[in-house]
Amino acid sequence: MLSIYGHSLHLALSCFSYIINYMEIITYGDELLRQKAEKIEKIDAEIAEISNKMLEILVKDKGVGVAGPQVGYMKRIFITCAAGDEPRVFINPSILETSHNTVKFEEGCLSVPGVYAQVVRAESIKIQAWNEKGRPFTLEASGLLARVILHEYDHLEGVLFIDHLPEKKRDKVIEKYEKNKKK
Ligand code: ZN
Repeated sequence: MLSIYGHSLHLALSCFSYIINYMEIITYGDELLRQKAEKIEKIDAEIAEISNKMLEILVKDKGVGVAGPQVGYMKRIFITCAAGDEPRVFINPSILETSHNTVKFEEGCLSVPGVYAQVVRAESIKIQAWNEKGRPFTLEASGLLARVILHEYDHLEGVLFIDHLPEKKRDKVIEKYEKNKKK
């Protein structure tokens, strides 16, 4: 029994180091971006390491937010690093409130590189989540941080920012993206 246990433990560990080493941004067209992410059952050292790696990718790619599905990790976690704000980790988040007030602002996405569009979103929100240390927190956010949170939360649901655009505008943005890709 011990050897079987040892074997599966080894598999689990090599799988984890595989996840960490090969994590990279996946782009539009990859079906994973359209799938719903799963709840994280246990916030442990692995999750802390994964969030560190995601932050590293975010900083390297000069993004303001990155969600698990964007790196092919289909769990409910995202990181934000909005201008003027500290890095924040959100695990198993719930959006508790969104303001009636909305704002239009230009958005892009690391998974849909090279294209931008004006997206209408709630001006302020209230969110509950856990951080990488397993501590629960509630946060009220407005402006850029609220926008980044809503954008990243969408990724956990398989939703992309282009889905918020009117159909014609969306087609144009996708067309431009495909054109850029061929270059
Ligand atoms: Zn995105």
